[in-house]
Amino acid sequence: MIDIFESTAQLRPEAVFFTAVDRRGNETAYTYRQTRLIASQLARRLRDKGVFPGDAVAVDLPNGPMYVFLALAAAYGGFALVALNHRLTDAEKLTRVLELERAGLRVAYTVDAAGEPKLFEAVCNSLLRNERAGRVDDSLGGSVEDAIHFAERAAHVFDSSHRALIMFTSGTTGKPKAAELTWGNLVEASKASNRVLSGRVRGRGLWQAVLPFFHVGGFQVLVRSVCSRWPLRIYERFDAAAVLRDAEVMHATHISVVDKMLQDMLNARPSALAQYECVLLGGGPLNAKTVARALEAGGRVYASYGMTETSSQVANTLITPQFTGGMRLLPGYSARIVEPDAAGFGRLALRGPGVFGGYANARAPFTVDGFFLTGDTAALHDGCLYVRERTGDMFISGGENVYPAEIVDALVRIPGVADAYVFGLPDARWGRRPAAVVELTPDAPMISTRALREALSQRLSKLYVPEQISIVDELPRSGIGKIDRAACEALFHENID
Ligand code: AMP
Ligand code: MG
Repeated sequence: MIDIFESTAQLRPEAVFFTAVDRRGNETAYTYRQTRLIASQLARRLRDKGVFPGDAVAVDLPNGPMYVFLALAAAYGGFALVALNHRLTDAEKLTRVLELERAGLRVAYTVDAAGEPKLFEAVCNSLLRNERAGRVDDSLGGSVEDAIHFAERAAHVFDSSHRALIMFTSGTTGKPKAAELTWGNLVEASKASNRVLSGRVRGRGLWQAVLPFFHVGGFQVLVRSVCSRWPLRIYERFDAAAVLRDAEVMHATHISVVDKMLQDMLNARPSALAQYECVLLGGGPLNAKTVARALEAGGRVYASYGMTETSSQVANTLITPQFTGGMRLLPGYSARIVEPDAAGFGRLALRGPGVFGGYANARAPFTVDGFFLTGDTAALHDGCLYVRERTGDMFISGGENVYPAEIVDALVRIPGVADAYVFGLPDARWGRRPAAVVELTPDAPMISTRALREALSQRLSKLYVPEQISIVDELPRSGIGKIDRAACEALFHENID
């Protein structure tokens, strides 16, 4: 990572590495030279404060310059970054840090008791002020030459097998597990994905980073930019209209989004979608309606599949009208289906450069030959991966397997339905019966649950048509826009019971 970054910084010191757009829309650009000096001095300063290679620094920040500096400082200093979800409560963040300490890590927390990023903000600001004035940080007592020497040496001894990033998986089920990714995982996964996604871009592309860095899909946008030597535009807040306008002016070529963000972009200005070379869509199951709208708008949308444990995507496919849901594995990855059923669906196991080595606080299931056993159900046909859903989501109704994803898919195809969540409601006679929570599109006329059930009956067998449907203004979603299952079920009970 830092070897690549250093070589670019030496080659093109005055080129802009990244531009940060804050929540008010103000932007600040940082060159490679500035970024390099700040990040490497931050690493030095942290070492002075007792953060050593192998230790971890917990980050609790929204997307902004500090995040980029800290990520690179981690690489310069040989310590790992613990990317905490900025939207968690203080108690939840603390639990996670303590969990890592119990697992034997030394963790420095970047935020003071009041939740303010005081220490590092002060350090970064003083570094930046000095840098702009042509000085290095006074407190280090060194010259610019010293700082550059430190950076060069760090690049020289950089070890990609070191722990780089610790990320708690979204944990919508069970306790949050701390996945440990090495720089090798992140960089090799980025290179594999760059090879496929660079597409027709000749020369330089531009990524817009709108997913939070504390999510692996967001962090990898930063690593991909370093690896491809493309500049980066990072956003503290996602405002679809502003991001699309910006893309036009700056000639952005790439953006990585979750379904909800793509919906917002299509609602804001569908015609603006076609300007991207690649709209990378991931983080959860595809929404058939969003996909159809994006196609109609002429967007080059890549469906992708991956998870925190695999350094984000391991498979993707450019969506065309012929799209059947299959996604091609990225170069270097292999997949295996464990105990497939008659249709070829079973538990998905994965091996490849981005696949992590394990959790800090839990045992990770691996096969003897190094395949990570995911919690997802998938099939493999002609080298393409068909992902159904989490293994635990399937339920049995009257002795038959019910796959909620198939019902969700039928629901969103009904005009006026924006999104849906389906689960198995305990039922005395059937064991479980499908139940649905449905979100309508903003402009849709009110639809009765009876009309929804009738529309579903045209497509699905009786077993699959939910008896009870709850229509809500908005499905509860987690920070990154993933549907929050527990909250959806609670909302369902609130409305129906
Ligand atoms: P996370 O646990 O936050 O790292 O999110 C990864 C999970 O999101 C995967 O294990 C899948 O369950 C789900 N997911 C991601 N991409 C897809 C996809 N294309 N289709 C279905 N599920 C997906
Ligand atoms: Mg997961």
